[in-house]
Amino acid sequence: MDSVDAERFQQLIDVRIADTRARIEASGRRIDELTKARSGTTEDDEHDPEGSTISQDRALEVKLHEDAQRSLTDLQQALTRLADGTYDVCEHCGGPISLERLEVRPETRLCIDCASSRLRR
Ligand SMILES: [Zn+2]
Repeated sequence: MDSVDAERFQQLIDVRIADTRARIEASGRRIDELTKARSGTTEDDEHDPEGSTISQDRALEVKLHEDAQRSLTDLQQALTRLADGTYDVCEHCGGPISLERLEVRPETRLCIDCASSRLRR
């Protein structure tokens, strides 16, 4: 990977990090709201359809929040690998990761072959 590509990916990752941070903030706020809404209901979930819906919404939002936090960590590690010069090297087989693949998934650590065999397992 030459310096022009490295710079391009750095920008791509920076944009994704900003997006992911915004997602984490938004879902964090939503979780707070749902937590408050849920504590406002007195019946337990089983007997209160509305309370149950709030719990489900909250569980979903918590999952989105965790996913976004994981993505953020992955993206930050991708920046480290970019700085180290190991960005386009597959973590599993040591082979190259194609630039096309990195453009679609800039946080990936695996080449397409390793990623698809991992999915099959
Ligand atoms: Zn590989």
